[in-house]
Parts: sequence; C-alpha cells; structure tokens
Amino acid sequence: MAEILNKEIKFLNGVGPKRAELLKKELSIHTFEDLLYLFPFKHVDRTRFHTIREVTPDMPYIQLTGEITGTEMAGGGGKKRFIAYISDGTGVIELLWFRGLRWISDRVKPGKKFVVYGKPTSFGSKTNLVHPELEEPGKQDAVIRSAMQSFYNTTEKLKNNFVTSRVIQKLINTLLKNVYGNIPETFPTWLIKEYNLMSLNDALLNIHFPQSHDKLKKATFRLKFEELFYVQLNILKQKANRNATVEGFVFSRVGSMMNDFYRDHLPFELTGAQKRVLREIRHDLGSGKQMNRLLQGDVGSGKTLVAVMSMLIALDNGFQACLMAPTEILAGQHYSTLKKILGNMPVKIDLLTGSTRNAHRKNIHEKLLSGELQILIGTHALIEDTVRFGNLGLVVIDEQHRFGVAQRAKMWLKNEKPPHMLVMTATPIPRTLAMTVYGDLEVSVIDELPPGRKPVKTAHYFDTKRERMFGFLREQIKKGQQVYIVYPLIKESEKMDYKDLEDGYESIVRAFPPPGYVVTIVHGQMKSVEKEEGMRQFVSGKAHIMVATTVIEVGVDVPNASVMVIESAERFGLSQLHQLRGRVGRGADQSYCILMSSYKLSKEAVQRLKTLVSTNDGFEIAEADLKLRGPGDIEGTMQSGFPFDLKISHIGKDAKILEYARSVVMRLLDDDPLLENPGNSIIVKRLRHLKRKEPDWSRIS
Ligand code: ADP
Ligand code: MG
Repeated sequence: MAEILNKEIKFLNGVGPKRAELLKKELSIHTFEDLLYLFPFKHVDRTRFHTIREVTPDMPYIQLTGEITGTEMAGGGGKKRFIAYISDGTGVIELLWFRGLRWISDRVKPGKKFVVYGKPTSFGSKTNLVHPELEEPGKQDAVIRSAMQSFYNTTEKLKNNFVTSRVIQKLINTLLKNVYGNIPETFPTWLIKEYNLMSLNDALLNIHFPQSHDKLKKATFRLKFEELFYVQLNILKQKANRNATVEGFVFSRVGSMMNDFYRDHLPFELTGAQKRVLREIRHDLGSGKQMNRLLQGDVGSGKTLVAVMSMLIALDNGFQACLMAPTEILAGQHYSTLKKILGNMPVKIDLLTGSTRNAHRKNIHEKLLSGELQILIGTHALIEDTVRFGNLGLVVIDEQHRFGVAQRAKMWLKNEKPPHMLVMTATPIPRTLAMTVYGDLEVSVIDELPPGRKPVKTAHYFDTKRERMFGFLREQIKKGQQVYIVYPLIKESEKMDYKDLEDGYESIVRAFPPPGYVVTIVHGQMKSVEKEEGMRQFVSGKAHIMVATTVIEVGVDVPNASVMVIESAERFGLSQLHQLRGRVGRGADQSYCILMSSYKLSKEAVQRLKTLVSTNDGFEIAEADLKLRGPGDIEGTMQSGFPFDLKISHIGKDAKILEYARSVVMRLLDDDPLLENPGNSIIVKRLRHLKRKEPDWSRIS
C-alpha cells in the first residue's frame, strides 16, 4: 500500500497529464501522498442553510438550496455574462458568471436543483452571487460526508484552469475513497497508544473531511505533532549520534593564562550572566564530549570577553584557538580588542583575512602548524584548506547567522578530533526557532547588560523633519558625541543605492562642513585600506560623523558614539534595525536612535517601526519578527534548518506542540539513542522518506 501513495498524481481519476503538470508546477504536488498532505487553510461549517429572503449583500459566505427558474446570456463583448435565477419559495436571487460561460450554461438549466455556496454582493440595486459553487443535491454523496467544507490554497493559474479549491477537495475525496484504511502508519503503535494520538488514517480523513469539531481538533494535533516530531527527531538524532561517536578534547586545567588574566587584566567585574555562561562552557570543555554551544546575547552584552576567556582555557590546556568573524572590519576590531585586553600577557596572536599579504600569510601558516601561534583571528579565510593548525582545540564563531552550517562543519575537520565549538550570535532567536534551527546545539544566554547602560531612546521621524534632526546632531556633537548615519544597501550591486549613499554623504558634508566637522564614509565597495582608514578616523574620535552602509551592522564597538540615524528605515528588516541600534548605547551617556522614513509606508513597515520605538528587548523584537515574517525569511534558516518543508504547523504559533514533540523525541532517544530497536523501525523509515524530498522553501513563509 505504501507504493500506492508514491504513484504519480497524473494517475489519479480526474487529474490527467495537463492537470498533473499544473499541480506539480503550482503546488509541488507530484504524488498521491503530496496531494493527501496538501492541507486546507480553513474549514467552514456547512450545516446551515439560509433562505433567499434573508440574504443581504453584507453577509459572509452563505449556503442556500433551490431550483433554477430561468437563465439568460446578457451583455456583449468583454461584458458578456451568464445569469441564472434560483428560487427556494421564499424569493429569487441572481447567480452570475463572467467566465467559463459555455461550460456553465450547459450545466445550469431551468428546472434543475442546486446547493449554492457563495458570497452575496450587490450589483446595482440587486443582491446576487458571483461565481458561486454549485452542487447537485443528489450527487452530494460523491463527496465523503462532512458538515464542514475545507478550503485549499490555489493559485491564479490553477483557478484559470478551473482547478479551484472545490476541485481539489474532490480530487482528495477520490483519493481518500481509494486509500482510507490502508494508509501506512508513520508512527509505531506503542507511540500512538502512549501519547493518545489519532491514527494517521483518521487524521488525514478528518483534516480534509471533518466528521466533527472534536475529531478535527484531534486530527490537526496529530498532524502537527507528527510534523514537528520529525523536525525535532532529525536534529536531535544528529546530536545523539555525535554524542555516541565523537569524543571531545578534555580541558581539565585552569592554568596560568586564565588566572593571570582574571587577576591582572580583566578590565571590569564580570556580569552575573557572563559568569554563569563561563561556568556552562567550562563544564562542557571538561566533560570529554565535544562542545557545541550557541551563545546568545543581545548587542553589547559582552560576548567578546566570554570568547576570550574560553580561548585562554584552551591555551592553558596546550591547545590553539581561533575566532572567526563575518567581516574584515569586525575581525580587525576583535584583533585589536584582544591585543588591548591581553596587554603584556605572553600570548601569540595574529589576524588572517582576505587582504592579508602573501608573505605574512605564509608566516601565519607556518606558525600555526608548528603551534607557535596560539590564537588566530580572522574572516572565513580561516576555513580555507591551506589553513592548518598544529593542535586546534576551540573554534569561536562570532555572529553565526552570517555563516552557514556547512562552514561550521568545515571547522570540525581542522583537527583529528573535532575542536570544541562556541557559536555566538547577537540576533536573539526566538526559543522555538532556536530549538529547530540550532536544535542540535546547547544554548547559553547572556540576559544581562553590563552595569550603567542606559536604554537607547528611539524615535521615528518623517523625511520632512530632516532639519530638526540635523539640529539635534549638532547639539550632540557639541557635547562631544559621535554619530552614525546608515543608508540601506539591499544589494551590493544596486547602483541606485550607491547613488543614495553618495548623495546622502554630500548633503551631510554640506550640513556639517569642514573644518568644524569631520565626516567619514565607509561602505562595502571601498578597498579595505580605505575602509580601515575611514573606520580608524571614527574609532579614534577624529571624525564626528560616520556615513555608512550596513557594513557596520555587526560588532563594531565605539562607546563614544551615541547617535544612530537610520535613513530609509522602512527598507530594513526588524532584526537588522535592532542590530544597527545596538551600535550605540555602549558607553555611559544617553544614546539615541533616529529612524528616518518617507510618508509612504506599508502596513508591515509601520508595524516594524512601531515595534522598534516601543521596545529595546531583543527577544521581544525577534518574536515580533517571526510573527511578521515567518521563519522562512530569517537569515540562516535556509541553510541550517528544516529537513523538509512544514505543511501544517507554524514555528511561531505552534510553540507548545513543538516543545511537546521535542520532549517526546528526547525521551525516545534516551531509551534508544541510535534508533536500533525494531519497534522503532517505522520512525527511521519515515524520517528517511521525509528527508528524501527536496525542501521547498517558498512554502515555509
Ligand atoms: P557584544 O556582546 O555585542 O559582542 P561586546 O563584547 O562588544 O558585546 O561588549 C560590549 C561592550 O561592553 C564592550 O565595550 C565591552 O568592553 C563592555 N563590557 C563587556 N563586559 C563588561 C562588563 N562585565 N562590565 C562592563 N563592561 C563590559
Ligand atoms: Mg560582538
């Protein structure tokens, strides 16, 4: 019977080659199974019938039944339409068609009885139903009986080819009549019993043709649970396999490096959260298992220090460490931060990026291999095969969302046993998404900012208030503060964006002329020396204003900068705006974020700007982002997340079921980590089957 579900959709009664092509192209339905798993987006109660007398144009969808009393073809040319009059004894109402006239006029004849379903509208002084759904009462039992009607998403193209929601429902009806009762279970019996789930056969029947409200609820739960169960199984099984097969280096010592640093070099008292996270990391490093830990902490929460201290533990145990950042600017900044805080400690540290000179690069390669170089900081240049370590023990990756899982995996191969991995991100990831996308990692959270920070004040201005904004900047600069002004650059190649940036820069130089003001500019198309020079001017405090693109989005740390102006803020995503805002508010002074926008704003843009003005909490913003956009758009999801596309559950809205499914999977893997128990073979088979399919990312969002 499993084979029947794998049959190509063209073999289903009522489909044929042309519709099959359409279903493939438009809805990715290739097989019987795909159709069965095309779930309705809503169910409508069809037990209620209205009388024609009570129908008014303001009603939502209604159902009535009656007899056709007359028909006519009216209008001409493009305005041609077919009208049918239907009566139920209480009155007469018009049914109206503009398309498919020949087909409909053949079908709808005086004397015939129909069940009619549609949305009343008003046309002149009359109420009518445009393109209603019709069903002949006698033929109703062709459809599996249900008091509720399911509605399916179709596309414009499908509708133009008469593949409506109703037609899809009929196809599913045909299919279910064939296969119901014989659909192979995707869970073992013990699991269905233990967790009191509806059987798959009944779940699929009831999701399409609900037999009662209660059964629909149970069916929905079973299908969502199953989907999320397999998402979690996929990711947690990888982790279980790893734990069973991969050993980790044991860092048991806390030696002179860590002690010296703690005693003589630590520039401030660690926050409680930093201490807790360090304890968690030290526990992992000493456990004998390979660490795979995600460190989440809002911008400015002090992740760098945690990274440094973790690296020192590696050094104390005779290992090398590296720190990888997504941009040259950020790598360079990490390098100088480390040099500064390690001071005169005897640590050999160097920087490797795409623009490192060849001679120096060679030198780095040699010293890495010999073990003389202890800490290497760099960009993804670190991933290259030519970069080989003598004894790499710890890899820290900053701003993980910029790197894919594949890149993370490559770092694993840099030693005989995989090094410990610490992945840091300032993009708060909602719990549910973290469980899915990073579900194989342990998670630490720094949920406390260093003392003395004042929350950034955020305001939204329309472009017409530009002069006022400039006035405010002059005041701040007079107080000795520095200012970022950021322009959107959606694509590096976008010429228009560069023009905006350059025009913007010129107008700012006009408003803030030399010699009183120094304005620098930094963007992605500059040579790295120029970029560095621009940055240096700002970091050293010489420049009052830095005009930039989002190259400064991550990591840049200039505590004296207290104002962030974001131009065309409506063009940025919510988490990106939050990241940009995080560049200020790093010193003791009150900081400000000013969002500039035009008057033309989409509803979503208004929502984004409102959210940002109303809260500074990164997690709250991430949750809002997930609700506004769905997980499909969240950076990094695509390379790292789902083994298959989600058809019924929503990561943001089904959080409870997700957590439940995760706990069930954890219990399962506790008992049978490698799923070797014959009683679980159905699960192994199902996961393999699900993963064989190409994911269709467009459907997630
Ligand atoms: P992020 O988590 O965004 O990477 P950083 O590590 O860049 O944050 O830290 C932000 C700023 O806070 C830096 O200037 C850093 O020196 C400072 N800082 C970090 N930890 C502490 C602390 N415990 N007390 C005071 N300041 C701290
Ligand atoms: Mg950082």
